[in-house]
Amino acid sequence: MILAATKSADDTQALAAALTEVVRPRDVVMLVGDVGAGKTTFTQGFGRALGVQEAITSPTFVLLRTYGGTMPLHHVDIYRVEHLQEVIDLGLLELLDEGGVALVEWGDLAEPVLPRDYLEVRLGVHPSDDDSRQVQVRGVGPDWSVREQLVGRAIAQWVVEGGQGA
Ligand code: ADP
Ligand code: MG
Repeated sequence: MILAATKSADDTQALAAALTEVVRPRDVVMLVGDVGAGKTTFTQGFGRALGVQEAITSPTFVLLRTYGGTMPLHHVDIYRVEHLQEVIDLGLLELLDEGGVALVEWGDLAEPVLPRDYLEVRLGVHPSDDDSRQVQVRGVGPDWSVREQLVGRAIAQWVVEGGQGA
């Protein structure tokens, strides 16, 4: 697990942009954290770094929206899902096979039906500072556990002291 921190929404977007350096086609990034934690903000920074031109918004009324960039970005928001079957029906695995990357807000709610290997980004609001976020990054599954070091290097400037390799 890597423990990092950001100081503003722009800073979270910069961290997300840095992560695009280590994310490859077919990867899944699970975005975990309460409403307002910064999951969509993160996705905006990530998308911009992939060259997405459109404005990325919360996919409130659709579960999945795909943006074109240097690779397709599938932005999923599980929050309003009532049955896991709805997530299965998205066909995310098939979409990923075509070579895109998926960022899944509230991905933890659908873990049983999502790929076993993923990068988890957990955003937490700072108790005393509205503009700071704690960012815990963790590779899950054999693929990501090997790549976690690369992740740590890519976001080194945000890693808090003693925050890597726990
Ligand atoms: P979520 O998708 O997790 O519900 P959003 O990204 O929609 O959250 O909203 C996060 C809000 O918090 C935005 O208004 C953003 O400007 C603000 N914010 C303040 N500081 C930060 C930070 N360090 N990182 C991310 N967002 C931040
Ligand atoms: Mg959101």
